[in-house]
Amino acid sequence: MAPESSVRPRAAGELTFAAPRRAKPARHLADLSMDERRTAVAELGEKPFRADQLSRHYFERLNPDAAAMTDLPAATREQLVTALLPPLLTSVKEITCDGGTTRKTLWKLFDGALVESVLMRYPDRATMCVSSQAGCGMNCPFCATGQAGLTRNMSTAEIIEQVVAGARALAAGEVPGGPGRVNNVVFMGMGEPLANYKAVIGAVRRMVDPSPQGLGISARGVTVSTVGLVPAIGKLADEGLPVTLAVSLHAPDDELRDTLVPINTRWKVAEVLDAAWSYAARTKRRVSIEYALIKDINDQEWRADLLGKLIKNKLVHVNLIPLNPTPGSKWTASRPEDERAFVRRLEFHGVPVTVRDTRGREIDGACGQLAAAPGS
Ligand code: SAH
Repeated sequence: MAPESSVRPRAAGELTFAAPRRAKPARHLADLSMDERRTAVAELGEKPFRADQLSRHYFERLNPDAAAMTDLPAATREQLVTALLPPLLTSVKEITCDGGTTRKTLWKLFDGALVESVLMRYPDRATMCVSSQAGCGMNCPFCATGQAGLTRNMSTAEIIEQVVAGARALAAGEVPGGPGRVNNVVFMGMGEPLANYKAVIGAVRRMVDPSPQGLGISARGVTVSTVGLVPAIGKLADEGLPVTLAVSLHAPDDELRDTLVPINTRWKVAEVLDAAWSYAARTKRRVSIEYALIKDINDQEWRADLLGKLIKNKLVHVNLIPLNPTPGSKWTASRPEDERAFVRRLEFHGVPVTVRDTRGREIDGACGQLAAAPGS
């Protein structure tokens, strides 16, 4: 739950023993709607249309450098950039693999919190995997981020800055394959996006709105991945944004899912799947079911069979992810023959299934493992 949600106006004379509110990341243009940006610019004594110019520099030219903003009066450039484009992320470490086409960055936020993002370039598209929280409160035992607990929610602009950083690298031709752009964004980095709902929706809007409001990425290219916070899935369906929903199921039965995805003790498999089907019906978007295959834990044929029966004939696709073992974990990825049998069983039920490529595995995947061991 967002720390802000517990803050309410205090009645006069009411005693409080609450800890002081923690400082928030600086306000940034990407946190604001177009109207709010115009108001902010006017408050600085500038003409409101300067907000549009500044927005184009940020979202279209991907340029945070005041000196290059020659359509803005020289005297006001610095002031506008300082007030509305404060630096929010500092790169601490960057590692690449796959011939430079996979690039993972560890970022430090203003308060020292660490998050990571991954840029993956394929022949026909580029995907940014972003974090939505520093840490995560969902406590899934196979996930590196889950082990460290939640530090804090990220702001909308902190989320957007990860995408913009990737877009800049692509536009500048830093990634092999020539200049390019970000086509897809997946909320599969650190954090549970639907537990930071407001900031995440703000970020999704900035991603899909055309310039100068936002980055102009197709909503169909944006995937929100969740452990299955049922009320928030319902809310997401109401937003009118046809983003792809991915549900991290990992087990078709409550007994096992209660241990692998502990929030299952609150919302059961049947409720999560119902919410997913409603989402598919509302948005006409195929829901993705994420299933990390863990050797001898959740990879039995009978579980594939049960999963197949639960989801057959639905607007669904199953993404099997070979487990990326976390340091010190007793769990490992399934045997190849068990993986194949699992796939066959789902196909028997007519369920579309793919095994996710294990890109970035040698740089610790997208599973919070870099932030857990930043010095390594
Ligand atoms: N909180 C969101 C986003 C998490 S990361 C969610 O749970 O959906 C995206 C996916 O990676 C999730 O399906 C998550 O369960 C999975 N994942 C986490 N750790 C993993 C690991 N060690 N190996 C394979 N997949 C993992």
